[in-house]
Amino acid sequence: MADMGVVRNWAGNEACVPVRVERPRSTDEVASIVRAARRDGHRVKVIGAGHSFTPTAMTAGVMLSLERLAAVRDVDRERCRVTVEAGITLRTLGDELAAVGMAMPNLGDINVQSIAGAINTATHGTGRTWGNIATTIVGIELVTGEGDVVWCDENERADVWRVARVGIGALGVITAVTVQCVPAFNLHARETIEVLDDVLADIDGFASSADHAEFFWMPGTRRCQVKRNERTDAPAKPPGRLAYVRDKYVAENLAFGLVCRVGRRFPTLAPRIAKAVAGAASERELIDRSDKVFASPRHVRFVEMEYGVPLEHLADAVDRVRHLTRTLSFPTLFPIEVRVSAADDIALSTGYGRESGWIAVHQYIGAPYEAYFQGVEAIMDDYAGRPHWGKMHFQTAATLRDRYPEWEAFATARAELDPAGIFRNDYLDRVLGPVA
Ligand SMILES: Cc1cc2nc3c(=O)[nH]c(=O)nc-3n(C[C@H](O)[C@H](O)[C@H](O)COP(=O)(O)OP(=O)(O)OC[C@H]3O[C@@H](n4cnc5c(N)ncnc54)[C@H](O)[C@@H]3O)c2cc1C
Repeated sequence: MADMGVVRNWAGNEACVPVRVERPRSTDEVASIVRAARRDGHRVKVIGAGHSFTPTAMTAGVMLSLERLAAVRDVDRERCRVTVEAGITLRTLGDELAAVGMAMPNLGDINVQSIAGAINTATHGTGRTWGNIATTIVGIELVTGEGDVVWCDENERADVWRVARVGIGALGVITAVTVQCVPAFNLHARETIEVLDDVLADIDGFASSADHAEFFWMPGTRRCQVKRNERTDAPAKPPGRLAYVRDKYVAENLAFGLVCRVGRRFPTLAPRIAKAVAGAASERELIDRSDKVFASPRHVRFVEMEYGVPLEHLADAVDRVRHLTRTLSFPTLFPIEVRVSAADDIALSTGYGRESGWIAVHQYIGAPYEAYFQGVEAIMDDYAGRPHWGKMHFQTAATLRDRYPEWEAFATARAELDPAGIFRNDYLDRVLGPVA
């Protein structure tokens, strides 16, 4: 979002004034922009859809938007793979895949991110046996800090491919990716209201209770809204247009936004608001195209922190966050979201080497969040929690290094691909430290 030269992220909590914003249409154009920026002594940063809550995409140097580099390059029906330019959004990708009978294996809550932005921060959905979106990337085209174009996959420059799937924007400009998809499938979605203590008492059973299980819990209440999505061959039975607008726009956005505004203005009403929000959640069931079920519209603005902990600590960590919310002087106006994901082998992926439980805490925009998020982070530190790279946290390279066994492999690749540190910004200086 640019306004008088100011670029802001979706939440509006981060902003920057780049020296200029470039919108290249080809990989060659990206390479020449990088070379020119380097010659002129500017740094370079790509912004995707600006949906990170951290300043990861912010720069005072040259900003690249790849919105014009967003086409489908190749469809490999035999291997169920597509090669797409890096600026394509997950929503457009979902439609393109559906048209050729394919789908992404798993997705997060929204679909407006660019594919490159999503993988760079290890964006994930839920599902015990599914990794994050970066784990579906089998090939990457990258423009390095020297302006060279590199293709990497498991056979060619595998050392780069292994780390570049989650690069936090530090390794180069990704211009295209090959995605390993799956045959198109529907999801059978069931939403139920359950007692939080019961879910926490058997969190392992909960994690395995559906292909994609998650729950939302409103602080100050006893029950939580559980969402279970099962993969199915059954035909779609989508909600009617009216029911969709009522649930997704009126209840989850308009009405919820209104009560958040009231809670921010009159915090003493928060306990009653929490009960009303929790009480408004209803049981639902539908079958629809997978990407349509995974993603929902989000119009109420908020800030967010999300931590991944080893799955075996998830119930303890949630319980401690529950206690923390009772001690806060300003109430929490948003539900807490809990998800699970599979282990992977990508150096700086938040899912590296362990099955993860995810705890996401939110606060309505403009309401105090600092004490809440700092308290949550202190809890997560006890479980070697890994913060989502695109969501708020207070960690530094010194506190993160030991949480990633392949930290040095990433640092080595970074030094090779961006020796002059042209892709650095304040966020990377904080969370990765200097280029080695
Ligand atoms: C309402 C909302 C809901 C969300 N839901 C989820 C969720 O369900 N699960 C989850 O895990 N996360 C979620 N997120 C976080 C979001 O998915 C990540 O922050 C994601 O990185 C945003 O993608 P983007 O395209 O906006 O990238 P940006 O935020 O613009 O950029 C992210 C990073 O990628 C880099 N980058 C972008 N494009 C390129 C490129 N072509 N080459 C190199 N580097 C690049 C940027 O420089 C930056 O470092 C949510 C965020 C919001 C606001």
